[in-house]
Amino acid sequence: MDLRSAVESGWEHQLELLRALVRSPSLLGSERDAQELVAAELADIGLSPQMWDVGSHGPGSSPPLLDYTRRPNVTAIRRGAGRGRSLTFNGHIDVVPVGVEANWSYDPWGAAIEGGRMYGRGAADMKAGVVAMLGALRALRNVELGGTLCVETVIEEECTGNGAAACRARGPRTDAALIPEPFNHLALEAQVGVLWATVTVEGRAAHAERADQADNALVKALPVIEAIRALEREVNADAAFYGHPHPLNYNVGVARAGDWASSVPEQCVLEVRLAALPGEDLAAVRARFEAAVDARVEWRGFQADGFTLAREEPLFDVLGRAHTAVHGAPLEFLAFTGTTDARAFVVHDATPATCYGPIGGNLHAPDEWVDLESVRATTLVLALAAAEWCAIP
Ligand SMILES: [Zn+2]
Repeated sequence: MDLRSAVESGWEHQLELLRALVRSPSLLGSERDAQELVAAELADIGLSPQMWDVGSHGPGSSPPLLDYTRRPNVTAIRRGAGRGRSLTFNGHIDVVPVGVEANWSYDPWGAAIEGGRMYGRGAADMKAGVVAMLGALRALRNVELGGTLCVETVIEEECTGNGAAACRARGPRTDAALIPEPFNHLALEAQVGVLWATVTVEGRAAHAERADQADNALVKALPVIEAIRALEREVNADAAFYGHPHPLNYNVGVARAGDWASSVPEQCVLEVRLAALPGEDLAAVRARFEAAVDARVEWRGFQADGFTLAREEPLFDVLGRAHTAVHGAPLEFLAFTGTTDARAFVVHDATPATCYGPIGGNLHAPDEWVDLESVRATTLVLALAAAEWCAIP
């Protein structure tokens, strides 16, 4: 059976798996149930999956946000004939929170299908990609490969990257990696660096009857936020990143202050996402931020370098041929103003890695969706690319 037919015959099974994964809310700290679904699928494909807790984080890891007990990565290895290049399929199992559930038209954990799309938190980012790479592995079951094919589903892509970093520390190292993030069939050729800062503004509590004489931390946070926005304008003024007009987004993502309308808030905590250009020294980015912000700053979560990849990478040739075979058009590229786990390979393990995956929308927003036909197409592209990359020379 050729790969196209193999992908076709596995499609209904893939769809069921995607449904089950989207219905498993693998939020930060709750990744295990979804990882067990992945492990069961890998076993069904005929591999021997390992589930292991992310203990040592390895090079390129970030300051953790919470404990790693019972929050496993899943890895499996399909050994090749011994000659030929090796490849890793990497995908993240974690998803970001739902936000305001009333703003969703669909149950965020319902995996509803309508008009060729599946809706749900994580449907696009990136359970569809995980299902595509598992479908590719299944389609390749009876294809002889020279090089070893590794697969991993990791935790914490959305906050530290420590799941992927732990995989690099554990090995094995392969000659390249593919990550099916939902980038609309574009190949990732660059991404910015991302840093998370926790900014604490202190005030002084009081009964609201004498609020005029107290020190409201929430109100004091407003000029801090303005200072962050001013710094964002400054760093973007001369930032060059693939012609992008505003590559470095500084996002005040969380503000926590107060617990009672008649009490003056004594503390306001802001969680801020910063960005940096590829090659920029993260320590300098941190120092610039601390100098601009009149408050206590701690660095927890992402401390992630950006990178660029040359289009001459052989990985792009192989991926491009697979893409063209399926879509009848040349592969196009993406420079991403966010981060992905590709940096664990490219920056910290000297391994070329790119993202290539299905079409999706509303990532990190209500009514996240993935186009199901594009998941099927991605599955075939990944299978073709792996078959060529890992072929017996
Ligand atoms: Zn993602």
